[in-house]
Amino acid sequence: MPSSEDLFKQIIAHAKEYGYIFPSSEIYDGLSAVYDYGQYGVELKNNIKQYWWRAMVQYHENIVGIDSAIFMHPTIWKASGHVDAFNDPLIDNKDSKKRYRADVLIEDFIQKLEEKIEKEIEKAKKKFENFDEEFFCKTNPNILRNKEKIDSVNNRFAALMNETDLAGIKSLIEELEIACPVSGTKNWTDVRQFNLMFATQMGSVAEGADTIYLRPETAQGIFVNFLNVYKTGRMKIPFGIAQIGKAFRNEIVARQFIFRMREFEQMEMQFFVRPGEEIKWFEYWKTERKKWHLSLGISENDYRFHDHDKLAHYANAATDIEFRFPFGFKELEGIHSRTDFDLSQHEQYSGKKLRYFDPETNESYVPFVIETSIGVDRMFLAVLSHAYTEESLPDGSTRVVLKIPAQIAPIKAAVLPLVKKDGLPEKAREIVEILKPKMMCQYDEKDAIGRRYRRQDAIGTPYCITVDNQTLEDDTVTIRERDSMLQKRVVIGEILRELC
Ligand code: ATP
Repeated sequence: MPSSEDLFKQIIAHAKEYGYIFPSSEIYDGLSAVYDYGQYGVELKNNIKQYWWRAMVQYHENIVGIDSAIFMHPTIWKASGHVDAFNDPLIDNKDSKKRYRADVLIEDFIQKLEEKIEKEIEKAKKKFENFDEEFFCKTNPNILRNKEKIDSVNNRFAALMNETDLAGIKSLIEELEIACPVSGTKNWTDVRQFNLMFATQMGSVAEGADTIYLRPETAQGIFVNFLNVYKTGRMKIPFGIAQIGKAFRNEIVARQFIFRMREFEQMEMQFFVRPGEEIKWFEYWKTERKKWHLSLGISENDYRFHDHDKLAHYANAATDIEFRFPFGFKELEGIHSRTDFDLSQHEQYSGKKLRYFDPETNESYVPFVIETSIGVDRMFLAVLSHAYTEESLPDGSTRVVLKIPAQIAPIKAAVLPLVKKDGLPEKAREIVEILKPKMMCQYDEKDAIGRRYRRQDAIGTPYCITVDNQTLEDDTVTIRERDSMLQKRVVIGEILRELC
C-alpha cells in the first residue's frame, strides 16, 4: 500500500495523464493554485454540477436557481463584512521563509492527536476479540491524555479566534511547540491578518475608477436578488435560491491541488425561513445534504460532521461535512445558519427594505437563512480520490481503475469493435449513433481489446460494449462492467435499457 502522500501524488499524476486536470498556464511554468480541467475533467465537473442542481432545484418545488454576475457593487462586500473581516491569520517561518495559515497549523496539530487516538483504537481492535471501543476509550491512559489535550487546545483556539487575538494565537503555536514542516524550526514571525479578496478596478481611467472585488463567494449574489426572486417567482416561505458559479480567494497557502484554489467554483443554496424556525431547517439540511453525498454510493465512513466551536460573525449554528481525503478528514461542504445577518446588512447599506410579507401571520419580517455551500472542485477531488483504485488481478497483472459512480462518469460507454475489419467498425458506429443522443460515449478501435479495456478503466468508463463476429450474426454485443469486469451478452436493442 502506498503512503497517503504517495497515493495523493499518484492521483494528481493520473488526473493529468488522463486528461482530467492540468496545471494552469503550464507552458509558462504554471500559476500557483490555479488549475484547468481537461476533456474528461470538464465532463465530470459538469456532471457533478448537474447532479447537485437536479437534487436541489429540480427535486424541490420551493427552490429556484439564479446566475448572478461575478462583479458586484463594492458596497455589497462592505455590508457583508468581507472588506473588514474576510481575513486569514498568517504566520511566516523565519528560517524556511515559508508562509502558513496560523489557524491551519493549530488544526493540523489537533488532527495529529486525533490520528494517534485512531491508531491506538485500530491496534487494540486487531489485538482483542470482542473489543469494546467505548470502554477502551474511557480507560486507556494514552487516549484519555490525548482527548484532554484536544479539548483544551480546541477551547483555547476557539476563544482566541473569536477575539481575533493574534498575539495569543502565536503564543499557542509556540506553547504547542509546532515546528515548520520545511525547516523544522520554531522561529516564527508575529501573526498578521490577510484579506483574501482580489481587488481590481472598474472603469477606463485608473484615477477615476472604483475598486471592485472578484466575489469571494456566490452567496451575496443570492441575497441581493432576494426581493427580485421572491416577487417575480411568487415564492412562499420557506423557499430557497440556488446558484453555481466561480468564486475567488487569494489563499495564503494553496498546496493541496484542487482542494484549495485561488479561483474555484461553488454550489450554494440559501434557504429563507421564518425567524425562530432556523434550527429546525438547519437540522433538515444537514440530513438532506448527507443523503445527497451518500446517494453517490460512497461509504458513510468517509464522511463526518464537524460542528463549529468558533462561529462566523453571521452564524448561530454551523457545521462542516468533512470527507476523508488522502490527506485526512477535511471540509467538503459547509452548512450555516446565517440568521438575518446578510439581508439586514443589505437593508441598512442599500436603504431598501428586504422583507417578506407572511400571509399566514400577517407580518413583514427579514427572513432567517440556512446556507448549504459546497465547492465543485473539492467535490471533484472527493470523487476522484475515492474512485482511484490500483488492483491486482487473478492473472497476476494489475490495473488502475477510476470507480467513478456511473451517474456522473465522464464517458458512460465505450463502443469497441473487436477487430478493425470484417464490417465490425461499421456496426460499432451504428451503436454509437443509437447511444449518442442519450449519453456521452466514445468509439475506440486502436490497440488490442485488452489494452482498450484498461484505457477505459483508467478513464473511469462504467461500460464497454464490444462488437464481435457474433454481432453480425445475431445482433448481440457484450457489455463489460468496469468494476466487476463481468461481461454479458445483450441484444443491441436492449443496450440503452441496460445502461440507463
Ligand atoms: P476552508 O476552511 O477550507 O478555507 P471555508 O470554511 O473558508 O473553507 P466556506 O467559505 O464555507 O469555506 O466555503 C464553502 C465551500 O467552498 C467549502 O466547503 C469548500 O468546499 C469551498 N471552498 C472554499 N474555499 C475554497 C478554495 N480556496 N478552493 C476550493 N474550494 C473552496
